[in-house]
Amino acid sequence: MPARAVVDDRPRGTGLIHDAGLLHRHGGGPRYAGYPSADSLTTGLSEAELTAALARSNASGKNLSLYVQVPFCRHSCHHCACIRVPAENSWRAEPYLSRLDREMVLTSRHLEGTREISQLHWGGTPTFLTLYQMSDLVDRLDARFGLSSSRQRDYSIKIDPRETDVFTLRHLQALGFNRLNLSVLDLDPRVQHAINRFQPRARTEQLIDEAHRLGFRSLGMELMQGLPGQTRESFTGTLEQVVAMAPARLSLSHYDHQPKRFAAQHQIRAEDLPRADEQLAILHNALSILADAGYVHIGMAHFTRPEDPLAIAQAQGQLSRNLNGYSALPPCDHLGLGVGALSRLGNIATRNPMTLGDYEARLDAGQLPVERGLRLTDDDRLRARAIERLMCDMHLDLAILGQEFGLDASKHLSDALSRLALAQHDGLVMRHEERLEVTPAGRLLVHRLAAAFDARAA
Ligand code: SF4
Repeated sequence: MPARAVVDDRPRGTGLIHDAGLLHRHGGGPRYAGYPSADSLTTGLSEAELTAALARSNASGKNLSLYVQVPFCRHSCHHCACIRVPAENSWRAEPYLSRLDREMVLTSRHLEGTREISQLHWGGTPTFLTLYQMSDLVDRLDARFGLSSSRQRDYSIKIDPRETDVFTLRHLQALGFNRLNLSVLDLDPRVQHAINRFQPRARTEQLIDEAHRLGFRSLGMELMQGLPGQTRESFTGTLEQVVAMAPARLSLSHYDHQPKRFAAQHQIRAEDLPRADEQLAILHNALSILADAGYVHIGMAHFTRPEDPLAIAQAQGQLSRNLNGYSALPPCDHLGLGVGALSRLGNIATRNPMTLGDYEARLDAGQLPVERGLRLTDDDRLRARAIERLMCDMHLDLAILGQEFGLDASKHLSDALSRLALAQHDGLVMRHEERLEVTPAGRLLVHRLAAAFDARAA
């Protein structure tokens, strides 16, 4: 079927095309992040299966990536869609930190202590913790798993600028973190007011300056489009200020208004959100500004400077993706610690309980706190690989994939290829024999193209 001609609505200088009709037709549904999705995990994974998978993970000798979830928060942002435990005082986290240590002890019994912890990320609200608690948590992680001091390690932490000052950054550097991700969202005071999140630009600038001075690498900033009160002018202002701060990485996520699912979002009135045409104009302006400033699109709403390791790895076909997101380091197994944390070890994927009570109860009963899981079949591993390569390379070679798994990938994935027919017709992806190529019109929608390979979600 011939590819439909796509209007080149390409913002100046960027390699991306966005088209209102295509974004509307293909952009619906939740943002697909990787295989297997958390929704595919089921109950019923036995402790024996879990420990067997940990043993297989050891046998692989792969490096490990650790994720630590901190859920406590003294704020009440109206757009919040996080696992959030309201708390005022940092000492409220003490019982949780003890449970985290118990989880580390139970898990580390099954993991080889010689495995390199090449990646570490603290997510949720880690800057809720005191400096002392941060030190203690790093000490415990080091005692249980042996943290790395390699210059190549990628140890990052999410920073809430409202909870952080220059002394926090110096402390984090002393603890071994070498990458920061600042949650900024929007610098316009009216938008900040509309989401109940006040963070003066001067505070963000001060943190960025200090982070650059201290030598943190690949500094990241998270922005969000589609927030209440946002206009193309206001978000242009935010982006111009952000670009002037020169972060190496930027993520540009989209606010997903689901008040039935996330109670905090009841505070946001649907009529205060930018209309669809305004959202498109915001996106168009944002892509132009980022391209003019020299940022390149990696995929999945992530942009980097061209000299950033992620961009270099992508150009060399070496980019990988795990539960912590894109990485320039080789693929590794991933262990998530804490409430709601996801893991992918050997041939299993698991998720911890989503509520603090359930998480703590399992640990208090002496069990690994795994609530849901999935034992991955060869078919799952093949699909996971196809999805990862499409998201990282923006193309997929079915012949190479087939060689890797010893089968005819085109035949085996015929269900996925037929689900891609509409996207192919609309010019989002092109097929040349055994090679699928995401087009400039499809890059912003690569998550939807990748989702076509997920037979469990289809
Ligand atoms: S979005 Fe706001 S309220 Fe929600 S966890 Fe983050 S800081 Fe707390």
